[in-house]
Amino acid sequence: MSGLSSTVKCLVWDLDNTLWKGVLLEDGEVLLDDQVREVIVGLDSRGILQAVASKNHHDHAWERLVALGIAEYFVVARIGWGPKSQSIRQIADELSFAYDTIAFVDDQPAERAEVEFHLPQVRCYPADRIPQLLSLPELTPKAVTVDSRRRRQMYQANLLRQAEQESFTGPSVEFLRSLDLTMQIGRATVEDLSRVEELTLRTSQMNATGVHYSGGDLRALLDDPGHEVLTVTMGDRFGPHGAVGVALLEVGPALWHLKLLATSCRVVSYGAGTTVLNWLIGEAAEAGTHLVADFRPTTRNRIMEVAYRFAGFTDEHCQCRDTLRPADDSDTQRLHLTPGPRPAPATTRLSAVRLAAT
Ligand SMILES: [Zn+2]
Repeated sequence: MSGLSSTVKCLVWDLDNTLWKGVLLEDGEVLLDDQVREVIVGLDSRGILQAVASKNHHDHAWERLVALGIAEYFVVARIGWGPKSQSIRQIADELSFAYDTIAFVDDQPAERAEVEFHLPQVRCYPADRIPQLLSLPELTPKAVTVDSRRRRQMYQANLLRQAEQESFTGPSVEFLRSLDLTMQIGRATVEDLSRVEELTLRTSQMNATGVHYSGGDLRALLDDPGHEVLTVTMGDRFGPHGAVGVALLEVGPALWHLKLLATSCRVVSYGAGTTVLNWLIGEAAEAGTHLVADFRPTTRNRIMEVAYRFAGFTDEHCQCRDTLRPADDSDTQRLHLTPGPRPAPATTRLSAVRLAAT
């Protein structure tokens, strides 16, 4: 079970005699311990999502969470009479999390055993370990970034967004317009780098070269006048998407070399990759340079090649490529484009740094 070394992304709580003291249906009154509240708030601030799996009357239990002032901390609640393993499976599926990133806390040994039997990858804690949860390594992420601190808010916004999308019947471009999408492209700062590093690790589908740059590699390039490290963030009327993309560009007088472009799978359907490429092409056109983009096929990033081809990158040979050092990897393709002006994005309000002017 190598997965057990991974960090927990969602902690699922039982309610009766675990989250609160007492059994709601029997005692009527239940109490929330200050220590439990601290754990809930503490995990939330670390970017660990929380959910509920409880055998209870749904509305009754949820009202009690609201009355205790903690309902907002739970992104998903499975409150009913089915097996806990089934509830946890549904929670993991809803969040698109692997089971080895889920943990479960329950006072009942039989409930933990049922979950352990069906979902051996899920970590199970007895309720008497709640006071130690904040000091467990698997509940202590290595880096807590701006985005991890607001991860719950981003998930909750996403649930609203999905519900809206499912109920929307017009053409999809109209839906995208209705979202009021915004994109910001800026030069990365030191503080951005942990988010950027996380992103290049997580975005295997949308990573043009499959190369994972470490924070250290990128930090060294921040001060290099020959390179631009750019971060892309997005938002819409539901809330922030957070950091959704990173680009690494080597800039020369006649050629800009796009060494890395990675965007989050979460924003593929909003055309984020194409918006970034069109912006970059427009900037290069203004600067009077050609563009070369590295693309190295992996089993998962074909969608990125489609984005490059769609934007007009080709295999044509151009003299500008002679100035490049050979690629480190023989699988790397160098796609070329002679830029021209591009139209502004149709469904996204873009605010971006000017590269051409500097
Ligand atoms: Zn050229």
